[in-house]
Amino acid sequence: MNIAIVGSGYVGLVTGACFAEIGVNVTCVDVDRNKIEKLKQGEIPIYEPGLKELVLKNQKAGRLDFTTTLESVLDKVQVIFSAVGTPPDEDGSADLKYVLQVARTIGRYMTDYKLVVTKSTVPVGTARKVRHAIQEELDKRGLDIKFDVASNPEFLKEGNAISDFMSPDRVVVGVESEKAKELMTKLYKPFLINNFRVIFMDIPSAEMTKYAANSMLATRISFMNDIANLCERVGADVNMVRNGIGADTRIGRKFLYAGCGYGGSCFPKDVKALIKTAEQNGYEMAVLKAVETVNERQKSILFHKLDAAWQHELAGKTVTLWGLAFKPETDDMREAPSLILIRKLLEAGCTVRVYDPEAMNECRRRLGDAVIYARDMYEAALDADALLLVTEWKEFRLPAWGVLKKTMSGRLVIDGRNVYDAGEVREAGFEYHCIGK
Ligand code: NAD
Repeated sequence: MNIAIVGSGYVGLVTGACFAEIGVNVTCVDVDRNKIEKLKQGEIPIYEPGLKELVLKNQKAGRLDFTTTLESVLDKVQVIFSAVGTPPDEDGSADLKYVLQVARTIGRYMTDYKLVVTKSTVPVGTARKVRHAIQEELDKRGLDIKFDVASNPEFLKEGNAISDFMSPDRVVVGVESEKAKELMTKLYKPFLINNFRVIFMDIPSAEMTKYAANSMLATRISFMNDIANLCERVGADVNMVRNGIGADTRIGRKFLYAGCGYGGSCFPKDVKALIKTAEQNGYEMAVLKAVETVNERQKSILFHKLDAAWQHELAGKTVTLWGLAFKPETDDMREAPSLILIRKLLEAGCTVRVYDPEAMNECRRRLGDAVIYARDMYEAALDADALLLVTEWKEFRLPAWGVLKKTMSGRLVIDGRNVYDAGEVREAGFEYHCIGK
């Protein structure tokens, strides 16, 4: 089977490599020439564990190639997955410019049946727009060629993307024809041979499922952050509360961690987009609006803790950040809490020293010389007045406090991810603050 994946970012590249791995011939398409050139030479433009090996292996086997022109591969593929970006528009709604560009290119050049599958996160009604854009181009050419559209939202997590794709909890597929259902079954069956977990549904429901899932997860985070902030004020410990409520099977243990707010390319924009969809349909998503407000507040919490500990005297101080990516195991800094924290620290006149195992280049690209880049976590903490843990990479979890005590100038540690043992850090001679206790 021959397929094309349009958009070779975090989702498109993983999707392409994983389909190639099960024997499908995949062409990954992207308008970014630089990205495609790199990929052709075996260079992976993003950090995702296991991705490089998978891409190189399948490229070598001749099942995975790359191009900048979708039209050049249209004749040989039957299924086209669109995984282009859907960034927030100025008003918060999802910008469908790229999704519709892809649809129009397909309509302009297709010569036989195609199944066009949207993998990007798109609002309800987008498949209808995709269908319309393709049909309009076909009409201009005076052609009557059959095609189907489908919705196949992606649920992979950056940092664990390959295993999420290879062995998903479920695959959601919205279709409106038997042929589309058959093709999607054929493509996903090899991943789910013993337990076929593809949930077929109508297209609007599939489109909505993705937003509902991300909004539910964002809600859990903001809810726990709200509980944590109250715990601090009343003398409770959010970690104990988390254990207490997580043991209830109706609640479950996952996604109950308090921290310094959610970021990334998905939760913030998807929550905004769902609020906007509701507005456009005369409804108010009251819960989600509160989820957003709590998250915005939470992204500044480490700064406020520092500000309180130093009684508003931040100017001239040196602050170290461990972690820049919005979560561990990725180099992605889109909407990362670290960015807000750095901005506030710089505005307050601090010197900021940073270290992240994978996101240093991305930080340089975004912030240039505004901060000092260290080669490792201990160099980052050199002469620092305070150390702030922002992203809970594994290598930050058990630091040598004795070394830090000798090399840091100050004694303040603020743990934005609640990973350290308070007693141990205090015993080592540090003033320790965390979230929610
Ligand atoms: P990304 O920005 O990493 O990649 C998008 C790619 O599309 C870019 O390389 C861009 O150059 C390319 N592109 C844009 N217009 C194009 C066009 N007309 N033709 C070909 N290529 C084009 O984005 P991403 O993180 O992979 O996200 C893609 C979609 O998947 C978004 O809708 C996102 O919400 C959704 N999603 C992302 C994740 C995630 O963890 N990143 C998870 C699930 C769903």
